[in-house]
Amino acid sequence: MQAVSEQQVAENVQQILQTVRQTALEAGRDPAEVQVMAVTKTVDPQLVNAAIAQGITLLGENKAQELCEKYDSYHKDGVQIHFIGHLQTNKVRQIVDKVQMIESLDSFHLAREIEKQCAAIDKVMDVLVEVNIGKEENKSGIFPEQLDELLQQVAQLGHLKVRGLMTIPPVCENNEQVSQYFSRMRQLFIDIKQKKYDNINMEILSMGMSGDYPAAVKYGSNIVRIGTAMFGHRNYKGAK
Ligand SMILES: *Cc1c(COP(=O)(O)O)cnc(C)c1O
Repeated sequence: MQAVSEQQVAENVQQILQTVRQTALEAGRDPAEVQVMAVTKTVDPQLVNAAIAQGITLLGENKAQELCEKYDSYHKDGVQIHFIGHLQTNKVRQIVDKVQMIESLDSFHLAREIEKQCAAIDKVMDVLVEVNIGKEENKSGIFPEQLDELLQQVAQLGHLKVRGLMTIPPVCENNEQVSQYFSRMRQLFIDIKQKKYDNINMEILSMGMSGDYPAAVKYGSNIVRIGTAMFGHRNYKGAK
């Protein structure tokens, strides 16, 4: 059972696009710099397609198996898919032909497997490095102090192109708290950009989810990843 109707999804999408636009303008940014991603985990493809019909052009997938099952049902014309979940090396082969970007690169081990599988299909994969900005245990992403080393290693791989950073901040009680993490991410992003590493681009900062995306936009986010605010609360019962 789905929590919301297609009509409700349409209204939610319009509301979110409007909020992003408004917030970007207030922050002195060009709204076109911020893309709204529909995060599709557990969501019926019909509702995902309802979001696409409202102008959403970017989907975020968390699980290889779920992506493979739903892939053919999406209306993919003009739509890109990014992988945003924790990615096991043995699942890389299943997804490299289906996604335009992997936002959750968090180890050189994973980078080498992406390199291998993309070489096999003659593709260069855009990636974001996932940073565990709150340095939480049991959370994916690398610590900020590990970033330089990983970037230098990944720069050697011909079938990966680093385009920026992604983060999921710790659960916060208020906007002020979460803004500190967004601010640190922005600083990290700027620092790396200034180092001008060969073969490393810093163009995309992916941060902000349903509860905090306006704050993320203020701090320079280029991709806000929205699930709940678009599709309602997830029903994990029976989810794959
Ligand atoms: C689920 C998820 C989101 C969306 O979270 P909401 O709070 O439902 O908007 C964003 N990013 C990642 C990596 C996720 O797994």
